[in-house]
Amino acid sequence: MIIDGKQIQIKKKNEIVSLIKDISAELKLVVIQVGDNSASNIYIKNKKKLCEEVGINFELLKYDSTSTSELVSVINKLNSDSSVTGILVQLPLPESIDKDVVINTISPLKDVDGLTTHNIGALFSGKEGLYPCTAMGIVSIFDEIGYDLEGSNVVVVGRSKLVGLPASGLLLKKNATVTLCHSKTKNLKEVTSKADVLVVAVGKEKLITSNHVKNGAIVIDVGINRTEKGLCGDCDFDNILNKCKAITPVPGGVGPLTVVYLLNNIVKAYKLQNKE
Ligand code: NAP
Repeated sequence: MIIDGKQIQIKKKNEIVSLIKDISAELKLVVIQVGDNSASNIYIKNKKKLCEEVGINFELLKYDSTSTSELVSVINKLNSDSSVTGILVQLPLPESIDKDVVINTISPLKDVDGLTTHNIGALFSGKEGLYPCTAMGIVSIFDEIGYDLEGSNVVVVGRSKLVGLPASGLLLKKNATVTLCHSKTKNLKEVTSKADVLVVAVGKEKLITSNHVKNGAIVIDVGINRTEKGLCGDCDFDNILNKCKAITPVPGGVGPLTVVYLLNNIVKAYKLQNKE
């Protein structure tokens, strides 16, 4: 089975539209971008489009160059602006800017990317919070395809704060047995080939071949690599397809879910901010 992220996105988007109707309040996302990274431009355009489709106001604050202290001051103003529901700093930031300081200035209640230390802590301590969108999207796939993660042997390759680490936390919450691999993992193939579910978020084209995959496994390919032939994931899709039970394509797999879970986090942020 090829898992259709676009279809899941449409379903989730419809759910979000009705949640927004129930709230009957104006929601607004502010995205902060520094520089003109071409991939960032595409991601921001997609976020804007989807926000507009569901009726969430969108504002882009784009800087050619700026400093950590200027960004901190902008974010502090947005934190105290009641018309702003969510704040997202588009990564990567230029090296001259202290990313951790900037991200952790965002109020945890407006941190719709779920990247503040507060929200990462909330995820791993089982507390309510805003969790990273890609990780939420990954976990939603299993509900959609009716696969029970409990007791399943899940291997996640990649341990970034953006994807691999939060995905491992959310999969653990679903009672999977989770192994988290990274660049220092010895004999990756031996580990991945035992996985019932293999989640790959590395950013290396064809890192995972059919030899890395167990017969009948479910493969979630998060990677986005730009090649001469277009976008591709971290998995050798054509070779793995016949060996696995299900696989996400790139593009059209996890990507559409990441954006829709951003919308979900904006609604959740509103609810957390207005909790009585
Ligand atoms: P990242 O911050 O660069 O992290 C990459 C991770 O891969 C690190 O943990 C690294 O290990 C590990 N790694 C590197 N080489 C490895 C190897 N040979 N074997 C095993 N692990 C290895 O990247 P990211 O932000 O997590 O993104 C990963 C990929 O997902 C990228 O292609 C990105 O574009 C894509 N992505 C897609 C979506 C989507 O919506 N589909 C969203 C976000 C990201 P160390 O920690 O040891 O360095």
